[in-house]
Amino acid sequence: MTERFGTEPSREVIRFLEEAGYEAVFVGGAVRDHLLGKPAKDMDIATSAEPAEVKSVFPITVDIGTDHGTVLVMMNGEPIETTTYRTEGTYTDHRRPDDVQFVKSLKEDLRRRDFTINALAMTLDGELIDLFGGKTDMEYRLIRAVGNAADRFNEDALRMFRAVRFTAVLGFDIEEKTFEAIRDNADQIRYISVERLKAEMDKLFAGNDPAKAFMAIQKTGLNFHLPLFPKETEVLCLTAPYETAIEGWACFMIAGEFSAADIGRVYKLSNAEKAFLSAVKEAYAIRVKNHFTIEDYYRYDLDVLMTAEKLFRTNHNARETVSTAEMKRLKQSMPIQSAADLAVDGRKLMEWTGQSGGRWIGEWIGKIEKAVLHDTCKNVTNDIKEWFLYEFNREK
Ligand code: ATP
Ligand code: MG
Repeated sequence: MTERFGTEPSREVIRFLEEAGYEAVFVGGAVRDHLLGKPAKDMDIATSAEPAEVKSVFPITVDIGTDHGTVLVMMNGEPIETTTYRTEGTYTDHRRPDDVQFVKSLKEDLRRRDFTINALAMTLDGELIDLFGGKTDMEYRLIRAVGNAADRFNEDALRMFRAVRFTAVLGFDIEEKTFEAIRDNADQIRYISVERLKAEMDKLFAGNDPAKAFMAIQKTGLNFHLPLFPKETEVLCLTAPYETAIEGWACFMIAGEFSAADIGRVYKLSNAEKAFLSAVKEAYAIRVKNHFTIEDYYRYDLDVLMTAEKLFRTNHNARETVSTAEMKRLKQSMPIQSAADLAVDGRKLMEWTGQSGGRWIGEWIGKIEKAVLHDTCKNVTNDIKEWFLYEFNREK
């Protein structure tokens, strides 16, 4: 098989390493995705050159993990990750090797990789190196551990979760022995840091078929050992698939009846992610009782409203739901999107009343927003002035 594989800068990196007398090949996800006809993302390169040798070949490199053999090479402005062929020492903590040794053989490097479909390599000439039957497993759409599955999961328990997230991303099934080993070792997932789990959960939620992964999680019993996970995944399955990972997290929260604060804390979500979850939790509680009002449309972002509406639709088997197109239209047709769009501001209110600043300004801006939203008053300075002064003097 000869075909051109890889981005131009990544090909350049391999070419340079080969010219310097080392071996270098493409490995991992990019090779797998290429065989699936998917566009390439990050191009990972494995090489017989040790980190210091890689650094001597290229003028610009960045150390991102030389202890583990990884050097970032800057090639024509593109960062390309290279990792020295390595084997891993013993694992005593079920998550990372006690040490790694650099080796000269690609075979040794491929052997330490998690699944056969991730242990494929490709040369610059487009020749596929398949030492563990990854190509056949690709054809049968199977996720199979390299070597003895139980041993591999004992080394690094995250691999069990990676197996299920690949079912969501690729739509593949988990091969029987690999599946049994996950089921038998599921409790070891507790050794894994939430940061690594979070990264894999994001990929799971963003995959084409998250429900497939939820079912695998349930069948293997992984859900009983994950830090916060619904004990039954049926409700969660109904909410899949998702447009984005964060939508997945929101559905996960509602289906599991978790609070936004708990998920945020346990899975160490970013502040923006936490804010999204809190907003969906609120909006969903509103939607369960009633349709969204114009004020809800004003208050919440469109993606928050759409997620809450979708959850309402799936969880309540509701027929009377508002379509996404209609929600967009409603949101866009509001006279203002935020207080910044108002034709007046606090300074104007002070000028018109002759009063100095204070809490009253925020309160009145709120009332003006409401009046404009309900079309009681147009978003025009003079109209607002007239409405405001009348109401303001009436309340005095
Ligand atoms: P994605 O397309 O989602 O990035 P990927 O397979 O490239 O999937 P990465 O986490 O980027 O996943 O890892 C790159 C490669 O490193 C994998 O294809 C696999 O060969 C190897 N690998 C990653 N994590 C592990 C692990 N926990 N144990 C063994 N090998 C791993
Ligand atoms: Mg990758």
